[in-house]
Amino acid sequence: MLDIIIRQANLPDGQGPVDIAIQGDKIAEIAPVIDAEAREEIDATGRLVCPPFTDPHFHMDATLSLGLPRMNVSGTLLEGIALWGELKPLLTPEAVIERALRYCDLAVSQGLLAIRSHVDVSTAPLVGVEALLEVRKQVAPYIDLQLVAFPQDGLYRAEKAEENLIRSLDMGVDVVGGIPHFERTMADGARSVTRLAEIAADRGLMLDLHCDESDDPMSRHVETLAYETTRLGLGGRVTASHVTAMHSYDNYYASKLIPLIAESGMNVVPNPLINITLQGRSDTYPRRRGLTRVPELRAAGVNVAFGQDCTMDPWYSLGSADMLEVAHMGVHAVPMTSREAMDWAFTSVTQNGAKALGLPDPTIRKGGPASMVVLQAKDPIEAVRMKATRLAVLKHGKVLSRTAPRLAALSLPGRPDTLDPASYAPVSADKPE
Ligand SMILES: [Zn+2]
Repeated sequence: MLDIIIRQANLPDGQGPVDIAIQGDKIAEIAPVIDAEAREEIDATGRLVCPPFTDPHFHMDATLSLGLPRMNVSGTLLEGIALWGELKPLLTPEAVIERALRYCDLAVSQGLLAIRSHVDVSTAPLVGVEALLEVRKQVAPYIDLQLVAFPQDGLYRAEKAEENLIRSLDMGVDVVGGIPHFERTMADGARSVTRLAEIAADRGLMLDLHCDESDDPMSRHVETLAYETTRLGLGGRVTASHVTAMHSYDNYYASKLIPLIAESGMNVVPNPLINITLQGRSDTYPRRRGLTRVPELRAAGVNVAFGQDCTMDPWYSLGSADMLEVAHMGVHAVPMTSREAMDWAFTSVTQNGAKALGLPDPTIRKGGPASMVVLQAKDPIEAVRMKATRLAVLKHGKVLSRTAPRLAALSLPGRPDTLDPASYAPVSADKPE
């Protein structure tokens, strides 16, 4: 007797319909028809079953604080930064834990089961660190939560930031963070990259920098990060987050830089939701989009994974823990609308995010982990288009969340009574070449 059989699912690589048999926390079998009984059956006829979503860039210490201590009225980055400065002294571990746990509930309902969160370590006491270490422990059965020691106000610009960063690593924070473009000078920024890379190398940790989140074409710290990653042999343990300045680099420089990034083996994490709102704000017209060069990085073989960055906090008042919304914005903002690229955008918020976090390959396969999401969509592009409802979310063979399919009851003369928005997929939605 099996634990669960998911019937007649489509898989992201185009396989299907297949039955997926789950025993314990593993996938026991995948076959066109599995003639066996299970304690529970989930009908996925015409639905896509995919690996859980991964968010490789988030700020859980600030999430759901929108309105505290007041609203960001202008919606700008500067007011957001001022607001965070007002809120930080008022934070208590209890309040941060409660907001983070509420966010994790939302994440689970969206099939988002792996998150890397930066936590501000610029100033003592380390309330966010203390709170999120507790949250990491509490959510461990259902969310892989990684924490990044993030000196938000600058490693050298904020007094004692380095001391606080080291202390938070000693307390158990997983990843070394930084923000070179926010240091006082370009030289300090470059120095911070070297220092942080050496801390990561010495401690055997991963490194994830907010790198060149700027419209300044001279903000070129990602070059130093690629150099240090290669010099210290850190490879895939390193992530450059945002890298929006790359949008503004001249093409000649970009053509030299991108191969160096690829050679280093680092990951790149663009955050399209927030950066499409923040970049180009000082432009008149034409106004730059400010997203990093996703197609060129992909073509060079770099692992690119979209991140969410923020949900309802001082910097971004929207967001919904929905990585399909992130992929959807990525498709528009880059822009990248070929069938192949839209299909890739889906992979970017599943497999590529897991790779950036150093997690095991989450691909749905025989013998693989029984962690997956059943979507109200027939294939990855439809899932992105619809920001599809997560009908069921499973982790380690247990159903964690269910949502009823979105169906409309129509009252129109001579027309159907019920409408399933997922039934509008193109008939010839063939696989990408
Ligand atoms: Zn960030």
